[in-house]
Amino acid sequence: MLCPSCGVSDTKVIDSRPAEGGRSIRRRRACESCGHRFTSYERLEPQLMVRKRDGRLEAFSSTKLAAGLSAALADRPVSGSAVEALVAEVEDTLRAGGAGQVTSEEIGRRVLDRLKTLDEVAYLRFASVYKAFQDATDFEKEMAELESAE
Ligand SMILES: [Zn+2]
Repeated sequence: MLCPSCGVSDTKVIDSRPAEGGRSIRRRRACESCGHRFTSYERLEPQLMVRKRDGRLEAFSSTKLAAGLSAALADRPVSGSAVEALVAEVEDTLRAGGAGQVTSEEIGRRVLDRLKTLDEVAYLRFASVYKAFQDATDFEKEMAELESAE
């Protein structure tokens, strides 16, 4: 964790104890560079819920999203770390909304936004599964949009 006083990353924990009735851990930290002391709290990450198309609520799973992406990216020249980075980025964006709840459509849209620049074939594969195209016309429209963007 960066020192709030001088900004270096060499800070060490000098004390650590349960706080907020055991729901968090309070840490006293000291900067090894300027000696500044400060406090940080570690808390459980709040659950991000996903509203499915059929109305059911489900906990967001980055593992599941990564698995879906890996399927779309099968045989494509995209590294595992690029997939991980994409999933982390999407999760960050979703959490930044602060609502604690997102729709599966929103997740799909955000993934597609990023896949479009990462790999077009994977983009189309993912789009066909995730967007649940109404009919072939939608798919053709996507294809046409992609081609005209080149
Ligand atoms: Zn410092």
